[in-house]
Amino acid sequence: MPSIMPVFCYDEQILHFFLSFSRRMPIETPLFRNDTHRKIVHVDMDAFYASVEQRDRPELRGRPIAVGHADGRGVVATASYEARQFGVRSAMPSSRARQLCPDLIFVEGRMSHYKAVSAEIHEIFRRFTDVIEPISIDEAFLDVTENKAGLTLGVEVAKAIKKAIRTELNLVASAGVSYNKFLAKVASDWRKPDGLCTIHPDRALSFIDQLPVEAFWGVGPATAKRLHELGLDSAPKIRALSLNELIAHFGEMGSILYQFSRGIDNRSVRPERIRKSVGCEETFEEDIRHRALLEDALRRLAEELEGRLARSGFRGSTLTLKIRHYDFTTRTRSISVGTAITDRREILRLADELLDGATIPERGVRLLGLTVSTPVDERQPLLFDLAALPGD
Ligand SMILES: [Mg+2]
Repeated sequence: MPSIMPVFCYDEQILHFFLSFSRRMPIETPLFRNDTHRKIVHVDMDAFYASVEQRDRPELRGRPIAVGHADGRGVVATASYEARQFGVRSAMPSSRARQLCPDLIFVEGRMSHYKAVSAEIHEIFRRFTDVIEPISIDEAFLDVTENKAGLTLGVEVAKAIKKAIRTELNLVASAGVSYNKFLAKVASDWRKPDGLCTIHPDRALSFIDQLPVEAFWGVGPATAKRLHELGLDSAPKIRALSLNELIAHFGEMGSILYQFSRGIDNRSVRPERIRKSVGCEETFEEDIRHRALLEDALRRLAEELEGRLARSGFRGSTLTLKIRHYDFTTRTRSISVGTAITDRREILRLADELLDGATIPERGVRLLGLTVSTPVDERQPLLFDLAALPGD
């Protein structure tokens, strides 16, 4: 095969070149691969609660408003851009906000309404991708590497999403586009409101190098303070430290700083799987005919289910009993109570009630199962729980 020889010779020359080169100047082995082929979009609604209120109530448009309690111990959940000009910010005590902006209009929050609007925004996202990771009520990452619209560029997807949010929902979103989550998030923050920023792989380092370390995602006040104490106030200075040095100073965060300062963030966009039920079942070695043995099984299942519910954090208000007969005929019976079913005694009481109304075939039952479904208040954030506040 004559074509192989020249190629082989050519490779050997390159190899020789690199060997001589590396002897003179050691090449740093990359510790982390940098995955730059993905297209990640971060969408962040602008002043979400306040914008929804101004959209729905024309008399509030153009006015400084704060969503939150006006009273002494209240805090601002979101301030409109008009209020921000006075220095009013999210999480600020309402009394301080009023000092800064005496004409500030306080509006009571409507959490269930904001959740409904958030669901409409997600409907728009899903036209482009199902790989959506919500990080709060008004922010989400989307992996659009493969997208339903068949668009080549991430920025085209971001533009289309922004346009749909504006024309269909009359709301404004900022979007950031890059090859990873960290940079997409930084990008969406870049020119708010109504921002659209793309960070290409070849521009990533120069972009990161101009950022204050506070802009690094996950760098809270404590880490920022420590970074400044060590004189590490920018990405180039962080890059000058080895991975081991960074880990010695910052623990696990050290590895993240090492990677972020190099524009590396290989975490995937994790779609939130919405759990609709939690259950367990037991198949018997021999078909059970006696009611007392079925009750024993229910007791075991109730205990198991209580544990599974607690571990999953799932809260549901319907209990379903599944009974599989000796011949594989399967029947289910359900009961709904108004509140979350969490306690084994309640599970057992309801299960017994369901069993009372069920037909037990003479030849026996081969399986029993218990499931809790119908989610109630799935992790509904309290409106004024600071941890649950939307970003800007
Ligand atoms: Mg926001």
